Amino acid sequence: MTQFSDRLWSEAVQDVIQAGERMDQRGWVPATAGNLSRRLEDGRIAITRSGGHKGFLTVPDVIEIDPAGRPIDPMQKSSAETLLHTQLYAADPLIGAVLHGHSVAATVLSMALAGSSLTLAGYELLKVFEGQSTHDTVIDVPVFDNDQDIARLATVVAPRLGAMPAGYIIRGHGVYVWGRDMKMALARLEGLEFLLACELERRKL
Ligand SMILES: [Zn+2]
Repeated sequence: MTQFSDRLWSEAVQDVIQAGERMDQRGWVPATAGNLSRRLEDGRIAITRSGGHKGFLTVPDVIEIDPAGRPIDPMQKSSAETLLHTQLYAADPLIGAVLHGHSVAATVLSMALAGSSLTLAGYELLKVFEGQSTHDTVIDVPVFDNDQDIARLATVVAPRLGAMPAGYIIRGHGVYVWGRDMKMALARLEGLEFLLACELERRKL
């Protein structure tokens, strides 16, 4: 490993650690929930190790996987939902970071919804998502039924990839959001979570 690539790795790990802290501050990674990853400029993928609290990540909690989701070090075990991260990286070479959290709003709203999408319309914050320049727009956020078989869940998600400007929701579970870098992924996650919280509040009125 060159000095250059070591620097890239360190930066990626710090991105993941800081994003975990941020998600924890917002209450989106309770207990051992959630997982975070970052694709380096050289193509390597850094992802959180299985288990552990994502608000208190340390350098060894972030491990390297190959594009198929296998840990480079066979003694390590990556997040249970690793395949949902590598699926996104494989689908779009511009994706540089993927975030998954379990918020109250995402969990409650998706359990109350019967359909396969949540429609978001009229919100100023919709502009945070790719290709949107006005609040006067409608974004459908896909909602997939939860499944402990992640490979099977990935095959259900696959057909709708490419048409998810705001990410997607797994029912009763949480959200997946991504961006070209960690900053963008975090901005989109905050945007989606804000809108989910708004939708939840509106249903209480
Ligand atoms: Zn999860």
